[in-house]
Amino acid sequence: ISEKVAALPDDAYYFSLEFFPPKTATGLSNLQARLERMARALRPLFVTVTWGAGGSTSERSLELAATCQRQLGLTTCLHLTCTNMSRPLIDQALESAKALGIRNILALRGDPPRSNEYHEDETLPATQDSNVEFKYAVDLVRYIRKQYGDYFAIGVAAYPEGHTDESYPEYLDAAKDIPYLVEKVEAGADFILTQLFFDITSFQKFESTLRNHPSGAFKTIPIIPGLMPVQSYAILKRTTKLSHATLPEDVTARLDEVRGDDEAVKRVGVDIISEIVETIKRSPSPGARGFHFYTLNLEKAVAFILERCHLIPPSTPMTPADDFSVVEDGDS
Ligand code: FAD
Repeated sequence: ISEKVAALPDDAYYFSLEFFPPKTATGLSNLQARLERMARALRPLFVTVTWGAGGSTSERSLELAATCQRQLGLTTCLHLTCTNMSRPLIDQALESAKALGIRNILALRGDPPRSNEYHEDETLPATQDSNVEFKYAVDLVRYIRKQYGDYFAIGVAAYPEGHTDESYPEYLDAAKDIPYLVEKVEAGADFILTQLFFDITSFQKFESTLRNHPSGAFKTIPIIPGLMPVQSYAILKRTTKLSHATLPEDVTARLDEVRGDDEAVKRVGVDIISEIVETIKRSPSPGARGFHFYTLNLEKAVAFILERCHLIPPSTPMTPADDFSVVEDGDS
């Protein structure tokens, strides 16, 4: 990822798409078909595959990552958490990723079981963390660098509105979190993906604080804003609550006006996210400007945003011209 980003002209734009592993074989096969269409029509610079906290989705995450990297030839980034995970499981995940030809890891701490959207397996006990070696994401960044040198490009998470996870005792605002982000970058992170947000002012303030940070750690590193297309009013409310993302009043008002009409909610959501993209495009960036989309495995809304914001790169001469029809074929 870092090499691909560095190869882009400074005034270029790029984007990435995030997917989670479906729970069932049917879900996976639906998603595979959708991914194939999205890869062809949208041409993301890279895709990312989430990891269930505590390793709850390890097999399915690796299976989906294999589909992306091997079958579809997409530059793939595997999310990997390190708390509530045994060291052999971490080693196994990294070895499997390497064997699949995956060169990118998003190194995360993870949350305790059952605390958030990344944990799907309700049967796992809510254990105390027994793995004292990995307490924070920085420990995983250091470990990957120690074990694998520069083989993997490493991404880390950042929070424009602060990291306020009630399952852990820390209640930090964005500023207090920054020294730990410096640590992650100095330990070897190559790029930063942010938590989703709708409050563009928070992101801009956060980014400018990082760029001007006295450590110099963030002068050139890609800081990729995380954006979630609006799929429905209920999903929006749930995910913003889980991620502690503020919904600015004007955003809420525009969505409230159409909340009874799912299609209208999606349409207004496309407008809202497209406006955020266009505003961020106008703020300065030391290199190419990226956008990361939390797709929730859905195609339509993100495709409209990408098209509207002219983020879809031209197809290479070898790729047949793609028709832009997008289909939402059931739940994945
Ligand atoms: P860290 O960087 O370790 O930070 C966690 C907290 O600890 C912060 O409040 C920080 O300030 C504090 N801290 C860090 N270092 C220290 C230190 N040395 N001393 C004291 N305090 C410290 N979760 C999943 O389970 N699966 C996923 O696939 C997943 N994908 C994600 C993708 C993105 C882009 C983002 C933004 C989050 C994702 N998460 C995922 C959620 C993430 O695991 C949680 O938010 C988790 O609580 C924090 O992870 P982190 O990597 O930011 O942790």
